[in-house]
Amino acid sequence: MLIDSHCHLDDERLSLGLEAVLGRAKENHITGMLSIAARFEEFKSVIKIAEKYENVWASLGIHPAEAGKENPSYETLLPFYGHPKVIGVGEGGFDFYYADKATDFERQRDLFLTQIHLAQDLDKPLVVHTRDAEPETRDILQSEFKNKPFKAIMHCYTGTWDLAKDMLDLGFYVSASGVITFKKADDIRDVFSKVPMDRLLVETDAPYLAPEPYRGKTCEPAYTLETARRLASLKGVSFEDLADQTTFNFKDLFGL
Ligand SMILES: [Zn+2]
Repeated sequence: MLIDSHCHLDDERLSLGLEAVLGRAKENHITGMLSIAARFEEFKSVIKIAEKYENVWASLGIHPAEAGKENPSYETLLPFYGHPKVIGVGEGGFDFYYADKATDFERQRDLFLTQIHLAQDLDKPLVVHTRDAEPETRDILQSEFKNKPFKAIMHCYTGTWDLAKDMLDLGFYVSASGVITFKKADDIRDVFSKVPMDRLLVETDAPYLAPEPYRGKTCEPAYTLETARRLASLKGVSFEDLADQTTFNFKDLFGL
């Protein structure tokens, strides 16, 4: 069994054929999924899917790319986390690939801080998105952790070993996506070869980032299998051991 620790089941590309998507996930040994809301307007639809399916949980947050458009307050967001299937906060973080750092830094920081404070106060793991923003990500997570420790996942990790190591030092988990199967991803495979087994997670980020040999297609949770297979060979362990360990890690982290 495997758990897809990050997918967007409310995205139309998946939600319009959700029964079939979940059926193929089951056939491919995916026994659980964490469905992520990345915009405030998605919160209700993501919760609805988690309510309907026993093996789907929800994490609610606002992606940094939305920072210019959305900035709901801590008080506005808080009530949504009382739902029993809502087990995480985020995805939130920094992204200066799509946004300009000079104009967007403060907006992204404020939005991320709100989500960090929710994770701290509610003791729910934070799902971190970071792209082209390593110093900013390191600074905020380290200083906030010093104020009040919290748990976190570095989702779809494609950064450096330096940042991964600092995040592991805080007790955080690092999640591998289909990117580790891409031909030109030697650097990120090198990072994952060093991440300890007890801090590893696997994910698809579906409908984005389909792994080889499905690259370019709509990604879906069933493809967690390809990423897990590649990760197992990278770590020099059997597929079963990789699957068991990452499933244990997910359940342990989220207290399931
Ligand atoms: Zn995502």
